[in-house]
Amino acid sequence: MPSSRFRAVDEAFRKMPIEVEPPEGLTSEYYGCNVFNRKAMREYLSEDTRRKIYESSEQGKTLDRETAEDVAAGLKKWALAKGATHYTHWFQPLTGGTAEKHVSFIEPFGKGEAIEELTGKLLCQQESDASSFPNGGLRNTFEARGYTAWDPSSPAFIIKDTLCIPTIFISYNGEALDYKAPLLRSEIAVAKAAEDLLTYFGIKDDMVVSYLGWEQEYFLVDSSLYSLRPDLVMVDRTLIGHNAARNQQLEDHYLGSIPERVLAFMRDLEFECYKLGVPIKARHNEVAPNQFEIAPVFEVANLANDHNLVLMAMMKKVSELHGFKVIFHEKPFAGVNGSGKHCNWSIGTRSGIGLFTPGKTDNENLMFLMFVSNVLKAVYDNNALLKASVLNATNAHRLGANEAPPAIISAFLGTQLMQAFEELLTSNDMVKLKDKTTYSLNIPQIPELMLDNTDRNRTSPFAFTGNRFEFRAVGSSANCSNAIATLNTIVADQLASFKAAVDKRVAAGTPAMQAILDETRETYKASRSICFDGNGYSDEWKKEAKKRGLDCETSAPKAYSILTDKKTVDLYRRTGVMTEAELEARRDTFCDIYSKKVEIEARVLADLTANHILPVATHYETRLLDNVAKMKAVFSGAEFKSLSEGEVDIIRDLAVHISEARQLAIEMEEACDKANKSKTDYNKAVAYHDKVAPFLDELRLHIDRLEMIVDDEMWPLPKYRELLFIR
Ligand code: ADP
Ligand code: MG
Repeated sequence: MPSSRFRAVDEAFRKMPIEVEPPEGLTSEYYGCNVFNRKAMREYLSEDTRRKIYESSEQGKTLDRETAEDVAAGLKKWALAKGATHYTHWFQPLTGGTAEKHVSFIEPFGKGEAIEELTGKLLCQQESDASSFPNGGLRNTFEARGYTAWDPSSPAFIIKDTLCIPTIFISYNGEALDYKAPLLRSEIAVAKAAEDLLTYFGIKDDMVVSYLGWEQEYFLVDSSLYSLRPDLVMVDRTLIGHNAARNQQLEDHYLGSIPERVLAFMRDLEFECYKLGVPIKARHNEVAPNQFEIAPVFEVANLANDHNLVLMAMMKKVSELHGFKVIFHEKPFAGVNGSGKHCNWSIGTRSGIGLFTPGKTDNENLMFLMFVSNVLKAVYDNNALLKASVLNATNAHRLGANEAPPAIISAFLGTQLMQAFEELLTSNDMVKLKDKTTYSLNIPQIPELMLDNTDRNRTSPFAFTGNRFEFRAVGSSANCSNAIATLNTIVADQLASFKAAVDKRVAAGTPAMQAILDETRETYKASRSICFDGNGYSDEWKKEAKKRGLDCETSAPKAYSILTDKKTVDLYRRTGVMTEAELEARRDTFCDIYSKKVEIEARVLADLTANHILPVATHYETRLLDNVAKMKAVFSGAEFKSLSEGEVDIIRDLAVHISEARQLAIEMEEACDKANKSKTDYNKAVAYHDKVAPFLDELRLHIDRLEMIVDDEMWPLPKYRELLFIR
């Protein structure tokens, strides 16, 4: 009997695109209609309250109690007018994704009556009974309290009937239990450090912020096929599956025309995003079949990150309506490209000065070179830490494979900028001071530097792209905060030490601009080893990187050790972004999550082997054995031997792979049991990485061979060619 997979494939092929009715009017007319934005605030808040909330969200000023009451009242009115019945503090625990607990506005009073309520207190802070979120020991069970606290810099929004209030999630002692709190602290740290340096250039009273523009890659798979793959359902990636004969060799998918069914999904998704004020700008096919990308216009990092999380949640919802499942895993299919989330990151002032944007004058360009050299130094000194911020059980499959950047952090500057820095090193008469204020950088190409930023190096994990850095090692399923907070923090610290060095030179009598130039030269010189514009995939680079002292660790658990290094602890203390306890908690939590993810994969694969693969393979083996036995009754001697030889070879092949697979599955489960006996989160994760994960690959080889041998009609699971080519 043909397997149920045939029915599912048939159904998937017959699915028609859903006609999407756009909301009334132009996009600009309904854009942000479900966000408590300035337009809504003008209607629901007094001028005084509005001013205070702007000051709070843009200048980080603390909101007083009274203002919070006013905001809560206005927010409630707006939400009720929009049909909301519930509200929730919306936060970002370390599990990934977002968490929410919906609470009704209803407050009973008197005899059987009720009113809708949202007080300032409820808006600002809530105790969370979410004791089962990972906290890495920051909360003992007897004091399992955690608090969510309002983040006024990210506006509240409504999804369906629920008002979502972005919050941080902290312990009783104020320690971060989430991704948002460290990001906010890192934004403050980098802003302060950059503002201090900007005063040398006469830029004062201009707030500095960090910006993020993410590019979200993802796969879509037909939901009826998806549901037949226990591995996709459980771990969001295929643990087995033979390559399709055709995948991305023809390079015909990238920027190809978007299939109708997918386009209908994208349109629907964009409508939802626009209502929520997520400024989606680009959509296109990616390199692998069934892989796509969506990208917005960049925003202040904290808001951009919230928007990315809103988008991911929306993608899950909207894709279901279109008969798709969206896959955020970094490497859902072997042999084709994985998905990343390039994080375009920059620092700039509110008034529009980009610190990584080359200017027109020497003065502006010195500033530009100064900031870029500091980024290079920060990335060089902390390349292991930066890698630890993006490495995890899922992204580890992507880094270093199929067009993804390698698991070694290096920076790409482009020829022009690299040349400018190199000239800076060799020329001594760079600054010709006529008096104390005029000077020349004498690097003629700088003013035109950015006119051409086309020379791009796709293999670079951290590339300068004209006015920003593109951090490409971030995984598609990640919360970008981890990467961006790390970048902000290491750069904040580097800028502070740069400033101290400049101050020292100035105090010794060197004119300020000369001092900055000299220090910029030193900074670049000290960080040249991070610059690499060759082929990041090559083995030579791995050797070279090692020689340069760059971190080459590929094991995620081992990479996490850097979080509790003395150097890291000091860095985070100096910048005020995280305490030692918070860093330790993060290391343990990340290790714990790593172990759990690999353990689940191992259990799913063991189940698949025992329940799906081996029964079918032995069934087929029996059929062939029967056939050979029957042939023996008809033919004999040399004739039988020559006629049955091929089939006997297949039976042998089958028998070998069946027995190997069975044995490996048993050994893998034993390895899991052994790993689970480890005493610390770290040791356990290392055991899962070293002793369990290799079984996943080894076992897969045998199963993928079986897939090629066993009768197609009997194979129970949708195959790559079906998962990846459904329209
Ligand atoms: P590409 O695919 O060519 O890298 P995209 O246009 O898909 O480029 O994405 C680039 C992203 O970078 C967008 O989100 C864009 O808004 C963002 N971006 C542009 N300039 C900056 C900047 N100065 N700082 C941060 N992000 C930026
Ligand atoms: Mg890009």
